Amino acid sequence: MTVLAGALVFDPETGETARADVRLDGDRIAEVGAGLDGERVDCSGGLLIPGLIDCHVHVAFPRPEPLPRSARILEAVPVLRGLLARGITTVRDAWGADAGFRHALRAGWITGPDLLLSLRQLGPTGGLGDSWEPPAGAVDHYGDPSLPDPLFDGPDAARAAVRRMVRAGADWIKVGASGAMRAVRSGADVRPTDDELAALVDEARRCGRDVLAHAHTSAAVVSAARAGARSIEHGTFLDDSAVTAMADAWYVPTLSPISDSEHAETHRRSLRLAVEAGVRIAAGSDLAPRPHVDLTTELRLLAAVLGEVAALKAATSEAARLLRLDDDRGRIEPGLRADLVLLDGAELDVTDLPGRIRAVWHDGNRVTDPAGK
Ligand SMILES: [Zn+2]
Repeated sequence: MTVLAGALVFDPETGETARADVRLDGDRIAEVGAGLDGERVDCSGGLLIPGLIDCHVHVAFPRPEPLPRSARILEAVPVLRGLLARGITTVRDAWGADAGFRHALRAGWITGPDLLLSLRQLGPTGGLGDSWEPPAGAVDHYGDPSLPDPLFDGPDAARAAVRRMVRAGADWIKVGASGAMRAVRSGADVRPTDDELAALVDEARRCGRDVLAHAHTSAAVVSAARAGARSIEHGTFLDDSAVTAMADAWYVPTLSPISDSEHAETHRRSLRLAVEAGVRIAAGSDLAPRPHVDLTTELRLLAAVLGEVAALKAATSEAARLLRLDDDRGRIEPGLRADLVLLDGAELDVTDLPGRIRAVWHDGNRVTDPAGK
Protein backbone atom coordinates (compact mmCIF):
# COMPACT_ATOMS: atom_id res chain seq x y z
CA MET A 1 0.00 0.00 0.00
CA THR A 2 1.19 3.48 -0.83
CA VAL A 3 2.20 5.84 1.96
CA LEU A 4 2.45 9.53 1.15
CA ALA A 5 5.18 10.37 3.62
CA GLY A 6 6.35 13.49 5.36
CA ALA A 7 4.11 16.24 4.02
CA LEU A 8 2.09 18.73 5.99
CA VAL A 9 -1.56 17.67 5.80
CA PHE A 10 -4.22 20.37 5.52
CA ASP A 11 -7.58 20.11 7.28
CA PRO A 12 -10.00 22.49 5.51
CA GLU A 13 -12.49 22.33 8.39
CA THR A 14 -10.09 23.71 11.00
CA GLY A 15 -7.61 25.46 8.72
CA GLU A 16 -4.80 23.62 10.54
CA THR A 17 -1.87 21.81 8.98
CA ALA A 18 0.03 19.00 10.70
CA ARG A 19 2.87 16.74 9.62
CA ALA A 20 1.58 13.22 8.95
CA ASP A 21 1.83 10.23 6.65
CA VAL A 22 -1.21 9.26 4.60
CA ARG A 23 -1.67 5.58 3.72
CA LEU A 24 -3.80 4.76 0.69
CA ASP A 25 -5.64 1.48 0.16
CA GLY A 26 -7.14 1.19 -3.29
CA ASP A 27 -9.40 4.18 -3.84
CA ARG A 28 -9.53 5.05 -0.12
CA ILE A 29 -7.48 6.86 2.49
CA ALA A 30 -6.75 4.08 4.98
CA GLU A 31 -4.85 5.88 7.71
CA VAL A 32 -3.39 9.27 8.65
CA GLY A 33 -0.64 9.29 11.24
CA ALA A 34 3.07 9.15 12.03
CA GLY A 35 5.53 6.53 10.76
CA LEU A 36 3.11 4.47 8.67
CA ASP A 37 4.32 1.33 6.88
CA GLY A 38 4.00 0.81 3.15
CA GLU A 39 5.53 1.80 -0.14
CA ARG A 40 6.65 5.28 0.78
CA VAL A 41 6.36 8.21 -1.60
CA ASP A 42 8.54 11.05 -0.35
CA CYS A 43 6.30 14.10 0.07
CA SER A 44 8.60 16.05 2.37
CA GLY A 45 8.70 19.79 1.82
CA GLY A 46 5.15 19.62 0.50
CA LEU A 47 1.59 20.31 1.53
CA LEU A 48 -1.17 17.75 0.97
CA ILE A 49 -4.64 19.16 0.37
CA PRO A 50 -7.84 17.32 -0.56
CA GLY A 51 -8.59 16.98 -4.28
CA LEU A 52 -10.24 20.21 -5.41
CA ILE A 53 -13.96 20.38 -6.23
CA ASP A 54 -15.37 22.88 -8.74
CA CYS A 55 -19.14 23.28 -8.28
CA HIS A 56 -19.72 25.20 -11.51
CA VAL A 57 -18.00 24.31 -14.77
CA HIS A 58 -18.90 24.06 -18.43
CA VAL A 59 -16.56 21.46 -19.84
CA ALA A 60 -18.40 21.39 -23.18
CA PHE A 61 -19.52 24.98 -23.64
CA PRO A 62 -20.61 25.92 -27.17
CA ARG A 63 -17.96 27.65 -29.23
CA PRO A 64 -18.76 30.94 -30.95
CA GLU A 65 -17.72 29.78 -34.40
CA PRO A 66 -20.04 27.50 -36.41
CA LEU A 67 -18.25 24.15 -36.15
CA PRO A 68 -19.77 20.68 -36.47
CA ARG A 69 -21.23 19.32 -33.21
CA SER A 70 -18.41 16.85 -32.67
CA ALA A 71 -15.95 19.75 -32.24
CA ARG A 72 -17.63 20.84 -29.01
CA ILE A 73 -17.34 17.32 -27.61
CA LEU A 74 -13.75 16.79 -28.71
CA GLU A 75 -12.63 20.14 -27.31
CA ALA A 76 -13.71 18.90 -23.88
CA VAL A 77 -11.23 16.00 -23.93
CA PRO A 78 -8.09 18.09 -23.26
CA VAL A 79 -10.11 20.41 -20.98
CA LEU A 80 -11.05 17.49 -18.71
CA ARG A 81 -7.51 16.08 -18.74
CA GLY A 82 -6.13 19.51 -17.86
CA LEU A 83 -8.52 19.94 -14.92
CA LEU A 84 -7.40 16.68 -13.37
CA ALA A 85 -3.75 17.55 -13.96
CA ARG A 86 -4.31 20.73 -11.96
CA GLY A 87 -5.72 18.85 -8.99
CA ILE A 88 -9.43 19.30 -9.70
CA THR A 89 -10.84 15.86 -8.98
CA THR A 90 -14.62 16.49 -8.95
CA VAL A 91 -16.68 18.97 -11.00
CA ARG A 92 -20.36 19.80 -11.36
CA ASP A 93 -21.19 20.74 -14.94
CA ALA A 94 -23.69 23.61 -14.99
CA TRP A 95 -24.83 22.73 -18.50
CA GLY A 96 -23.34 21.62 -21.79
CA ALA A 97 -22.09 18.09 -21.15
CA ASP A 98 -24.37 15.12 -21.76
CA ALA A 99 -24.37 11.71 -20.10
CA GLY A 100 -21.94 10.33 -22.67
CA PHE A 101 -19.15 12.28 -20.95
CA ARG A 102 -19.80 10.57 -17.62
CA HIS A 103 -19.84 7.23 -19.40
CA ALA A 104 -16.57 7.94 -21.26
CA LEU A 105 -14.83 9.00 -18.03
CA ARG A 106 -16.01 5.95 -16.09
CA ALA A 107 -15.09 3.62 -18.96
CA GLY A 108 -11.61 5.18 -19.10
CA TRP A 109 -11.93 6.32 -22.72
CA ILE A 110 -10.88 9.77 -21.56
CA THR A 111 -9.35 11.07 -18.32
CA GLY A 112 -10.73 13.82 -16.11
CA PRO A 113 -12.40 14.59 -12.81
CA ASP A 114 -15.60 12.96 -11.59
CA LEU A 115 -18.33 14.76 -13.50
CA LEU A 116 -21.79 15.59 -12.15
CA LEU A 117 -24.17 16.60 -14.93
CA SER A 118 -27.04 19.03 -15.29
CA LEU A 119 -27.30 18.75 -19.10
CA ARG A 120 -29.06 22.09 -19.75
CA GLN A 121 -30.36 25.15 -17.93
CA LEU A 122 -34.12 25.15 -17.55
CA GLY A 123 -35.99 28.39 -18.02
CA PRO A 124 -39.16 30.03 -19.32
CA THR A 125 -39.74 31.34 -22.82
CA GLY A 126 -37.46 34.34 -23.25
CA GLY A 127 -35.40 33.42 -20.19
CA LEU A 128 -31.99 31.88 -19.71
CA GLY A 129 -31.64 28.84 -21.95
CA ASP A 130 -34.06 30.09 -24.62
CA SER A 131 -31.96 30.49 -27.75
CA TRP A 132 -33.99 32.75 -29.96
CA GLU A 133 -32.86 35.26 -32.56
CA PRO A 134 -35.12 37.83 -34.25
CA PRO A 135 -34.49 36.80 -37.86
CA ALA A 136 -34.44 33.05 -37.29
CA GLY A 137 -36.70 32.45 -34.28
CA ALA A 138 -35.78 29.47 -32.13
CA VAL A 139 -32.23 28.34 -32.82
CA ASP A 140 -30.89 25.42 -30.89
CA HIS A 141 -27.22 24.86 -31.65
CA TYR A 142 -26.69 22.14 -29.06
CA GLY A 143 -30.02 20.41 -28.69
CA ASP A 144 -30.07 16.70 -29.36
CA PRO A 145 -31.85 13.87 -27.56
CA SER A 146 -29.01 13.75 -25.04
CA LEU A 147 -29.51 17.45 -24.17
CA PRO A 148 -33.31 17.77 -23.99
CA ASP A 149 -35.45 20.86 -24.49
CA PRO A 150 -35.01 23.05 -21.37
CA LEU A 151 -37.96 25.42 -21.88
CA PHE A 152 -41.06 25.47 -19.69
CA ASP A 153 -44.01 27.79 -19.11
CA GLY A 154 -46.17 26.96 -16.11
CA PRO A 155 -45.62 24.64 -13.12
CA ASP A 156 -46.63 21.44 -14.93
CA ALA A 157 -44.31 22.25 -17.80
CA ALA A 158 -41.52 22.90 -15.27
CA ARG A 159 -42.09 19.41 -13.85
CA ALA A 160 -41.98 17.96 -17.36
CA ALA A 161 -38.69 19.73 -18.09
CA VAL A 162 -37.17 18.27 -14.90
CA ARG A 163 -38.37 14.81 -15.95
CA ARG A 164 -36.79 15.20 -19.40
CA MET A 165 -33.44 16.01 -17.79
CA VAL A 166 -33.64 13.13 -15.31
CA ARG A 167 -34.56 10.75 -18.14
CA ALA A 168 -31.46 11.85 -20.05
CA GLY A 169 -29.17 11.30 -17.06
CA ALA A 170 -28.97 14.60 -15.15
CA ASP A 171 -27.46 14.41 -11.66
CA TRP A 172 -28.49 17.99 -10.88
CA ILE A 173 -31.23 20.28 -12.19
CA LYS A 174 -30.03 23.71 -13.34
CA VAL A 175 -32.53 26.55 -13.56
CA GLY A 176 -32.17 30.11 -14.78
CA ALA A 177 -33.85 32.06 -11.97
CA SER A 178 -32.71 35.23 -13.73
CA GLY A 179 -31.64 35.79 -17.31
CA ALA A 180 -28.05 36.19 -18.46
CA MET A 181 -26.13 39.29 -17.35
CA ARG A 182 -26.84 40.91 -20.72
CA ALA A 183 -30.61 40.45 -20.31
CA VAL A 184 -30.51 41.66 -16.70
CA ARG A 185 -28.60 44.83 -17.59
CA SER A 186 -30.73 45.62 -20.64
CA GLY A 187 -34.04 45.25 -18.79
CA ALA A 188 -35.02 42.21 -20.86
CA ASP A 189 -34.87 39.75 -17.99
CA VAL A 190 -37.59 37.07 -18.10
CA ARG A 191 -37.80 35.06 -14.87
CA PRO A 192 -39.74 31.98 -13.83
CA THR A 193 -42.60 32.59 -11.39
CA ASP A 194 -42.45 31.45 -7.79
CA ASP A 195 -45.04 28.77 -8.62
CA GLU A 196 -42.89 27.48 -11.48
CA LEU A 197 -39.77 27.41 -9.29
CA ALA A 198 -41.60 25.66 -6.46
CA ALA A 199 -42.89 23.00 -8.86
CA LEU A 200 -39.45 22.57 -10.42
CA VAL A 201 -37.67 22.12 -7.07
CA ASP A 202 -40.40 19.79 -5.83
CA GLU A 203 -40.20 17.63 -8.94
CA ALA A 204 -36.40 17.54 -8.74
CA ARG A 205 -36.65 16.32 -5.13
CA ARG A 206 -39.23 13.70 -6.08
CA CYS A 207 -36.65 12.48 -8.60
CA GLY A 208 -33.88 12.50 -5.96
CA ARG A 209 -32.14 15.53 -7.44
CA ASP A 210 -31.16 18.96 -6.14
CA VAL A 211 -31.37 22.30 -7.93
CA LEU A 212 -28.68 24.83 -8.72
CA ALA A 213 -30.04 28.24 -9.67
CA HIS A 214 -28.36 30.81 -11.88
CA ALA A 215 -29.38 34.18 -10.41
CA HIS A 216 -27.79 37.62 -10.78
CA THR A 217 -30.39 39.85 -9.12
CA SER A 218 -31.63 39.84 -5.56
CA ALA A 219 -35.22 39.24 -6.67
CA ALA A 220 -34.16 36.13 -8.56
CA VAL A 221 -32.00 34.92 -5.66
CA VAL A 222 -34.82 35.38 -3.16
CA SER A 223 -37.32 33.49 -5.26
CA ALA A 224 -34.91 30.62 -6.07
CA ALA A 225 -33.71 30.29 -2.47
CA ARG A 226 -37.26 30.37 -1.08
CA ALA A 227 -38.27 27.70 -3.58
CA GLY A 228 -35.53 25.49 -2.12
CA ALA A 229 -32.66 25.67 -4.62
CA ARG A 230 -29.65 24.06 -2.92
CA SER A 231 -27.15 26.47 -4.45
CA ILE A 232 -27.29 29.98 -5.84
CA GLU A 233 -24.85 30.64 -8.68
CA HIS A 234 -23.27 34.05 -9.47
CA GLY A 235 -25.44 36.26 -7.18
CA THR A 236 -23.76 39.33 -8.58
CA PHE A 237 -26.15 41.89 -7.12
CA LEU A 238 -27.03 40.67 -3.62
CA ASP A 239 -28.72 42.70 -0.91
CA ASP A 240 -29.82 41.94 2.66
CA SER A 241 -33.05 40.27 1.57
CA ALA A 242 -31.12 37.94 -0.74
CA VAL A 243 -28.52 36.83 1.79
CA THR A 244 -31.28 36.34 4.40
CA ALA A 245 -33.20 34.12 1.98
CA MET A 246 -30.02 32.08 1.37
CA ALA A 247 -29.82 30.83 4.96
CA ASP A 248 -30.37 27.20 3.88
CA ALA A 249 -28.54 27.42 0.55
CA TRP A 250 -24.94 27.55 -0.59
CA TYR A 251 -23.57 30.49 -2.52
CA VAL A 252 -21.32 29.71 -5.50
CA PRO A 253 -20.21 33.21 -6.51
CA THR A 254 -18.15 32.36 -9.64
CA LEU A 255 -16.00 35.50 -9.45
CA SER A 256 -13.77 34.54 -12.40
CA PRO A 257 -15.87 35.40 -15.47
CA ILE A 258 -16.51 39.00 -14.46
CA SER A 259 -13.40 39.67 -12.36
CA ASP A 260 -12.24 42.30 -14.87
CA SER A 261 -15.67 43.79 -15.53
CA GLU A 262 -17.41 46.90 -14.22
CA HIS A 263 -19.39 44.63 -11.85
CA ALA A 264 -16.37 43.02 -10.17
CA GLU A 265 -16.39 45.21 -7.04
CA THR A 266 -20.19 44.89 -6.66
CA HIS A 267 -19.78 41.12 -6.94
CA ARG A 268 -17.09 41.05 -4.24
CA ARG A 269 -19.34 43.20 -2.04
CA SER A 270 -22.12 40.64 -2.53
CA LEU A 271 -19.75 37.88 -1.43
CA ARG A 272 -18.75 39.81 1.70
CA LEU A 273 -22.42 40.46 2.50
CA ALA A 274 -23.20 36.75 2.18
CA VAL A 275 -20.28 35.74 4.40
CA GLU A 276 -21.27 38.28 7.06
CA ALA A 277 -24.79 36.81 7.01
CA GLY A 278 -23.35 33.32 7.57
CA VAL A 279 -24.16 31.93 4.11
CA ARG A 280 -22.08 28.86 3.25
CA ILE A 281 -19.71 29.40 0.32
CA ALA A 282 -18.73 26.78 -2.26
CA ALA A 283 -16.27 27.40 -5.06
CA GLY A 284 -17.13 27.42 -8.75
CA SER A 285 -15.14 28.86 -11.63
CA ASP A 286 -17.76 28.90 -14.42
CA LEU A 287 -14.90 27.73 -16.68
CA ALA A 288 -16.59 29.40 -19.61
CA PRO A 289 -14.26 32.03 -21.08
CA ARG A 290 -11.61 30.84 -23.45
CA PRO A 291 -8.87 30.10 -22.72
CA HIS A 292 -10.65 28.27 -19.90
CA VAL A 293 -10.34 29.94 -16.52
CA ASP A 294 -10.42 27.18 -13.95
CA LEU A 295 -10.78 26.74 -10.20
CA THR A 296 -7.13 27.62 -9.55
CA THR A 297 -7.96 31.16 -10.74
CA GLU A 298 -11.24 31.25 -8.81
CA LEU A 299 -9.39 30.23 -5.63
CA ARG A 300 -7.05 33.20 -5.97
CA LEU A 301 -10.03 35.56 -6.38
CA LEU A 302 -11.93 33.97 -3.48
CA ALA A 303 -8.84 34.11 -1.25
CA ALA A 304 -8.52 37.85 -1.90
CA VAL A 305 -11.94 38.31 -0.27
CA LEU A 306 -12.21 35.39 2.18
CA GLY A 307 -8.59 34.49 2.95
CA GLU A 308 -6.76 31.31 1.94
CA VAL A 309 -8.28 28.90 4.45
CA ALA A 310 -11.89 29.83 3.65
CA ALA A 311 -11.18 29.72 -0.08
CA LEU A 312 -9.65 26.23 0.18
CA LYS A 313 -12.54 25.08 2.37
CA ALA A 314 -15.00 26.35 -0.28
CA ALA A 315 -13.22 24.19 -2.87
CA THR A 316 -12.93 21.05 -0.72
CA SER A 317 -15.01 20.16 2.35
CA GLU A 318 -17.72 22.79 1.84
CA ALA A 319 -18.06 21.98 -1.85
CA ALA A 320 -18.42 18.30 -0.95
CA ARG A 321 -21.16 19.21 1.53
CA LEU A 322 -23.08 21.14 -1.12
CA LEU A 323 -22.78 18.17 -3.50
CA ARG A 324 -23.85 15.71 -0.76
CA LEU A 325 -20.48 13.98 -1.10
CA ASP A 326 -19.00 14.96 2.27
CA ASP A 327 -19.10 11.40 3.56
CA ASP A 328 -16.96 10.41 0.57
CA ARG A 329 -14.49 13.22 -0.19
CA GLY A 330 -13.37 16.78 0.51
CA ARG A 331 -11.14 16.05 3.53
CA ILE A 332 -8.04 13.96 4.23
CA GLU A 333 -9.44 11.39 6.64
CA PRO A 334 -9.53 7.59 6.88
CA GLY A 335 -12.38 6.08 4.88
CA LEU A 336 -12.69 8.98 2.47
CA ARG A 337 -11.70 8.74 -1.15
CA ALA A 338 -8.05 9.10 -2.05
CA ASP A 339 -8.34 12.38 -3.96
CA LEU A 340 -5.26 14.37 -3.01
CA VAL A 341 -3.04 17.14 -4.29
CA LEU A 342 0.61 17.52 -3.24
CA LEU A 343 1.83 21.12 -3.43
CA ASP A 344 5.42 22.28 -3.24
CA GLY A 345 6.11 24.26 -0.08
CA ALA A 346 4.28 24.47 3.21
CA GLU A 347 2.30 27.67 2.85
CA LEU A 348 -1.44 27.90 2.12
CA ASP A 349 -0.85 30.59 -0.49
CA VAL A 350 -3.07 30.02 -3.55
CA THR A 351 -1.58 32.73 -5.78
CA ASP A 352 -0.04 30.20 -8.15
CA LEU A 353 -1.49 26.78 -7.46
CA PRO A 354 -0.71 25.28 -10.91
CA GLY A 355 2.96 26.25 -10.45
CA ARG A 356 3.10 24.45 -7.09
CA ILE A 357 1.48 21.13 -8.01
CA ARG A 358 3.91 18.25 -7.54
CA ALA A 359 1.48 15.32 -7.73
CA VAL A 360 -2.23 14.51 -7.91
CA TRP A 361 -4.08 11.36 -6.83
CA HIS A 362 -7.59 10.71 -8.08
CA ASP A 363 -9.59 7.76 -6.82
CA GLY A 364 -6.32 6.36 -5.43
CA ASN A 365 -4.49 6.54 -8.74
CA ARG A 366 -1.58 8.88 -9.29
CA VAL A 367 -2.25 11.25 -12.18
CA THR A 368 0.58 10.94 -14.64
CA ASP A 369 0.92 14.53 -15.81
CA PRO A 370 0.28 16.79 -12.80
CA ALA A 371 -0.14 20.42 -13.87
CA GLY A 372 0.67 19.30 -17.40
CA LYS A 373 4.37 18.91 -16.45
ZN1 LIG B 1 -22.19 28.94 -15.80
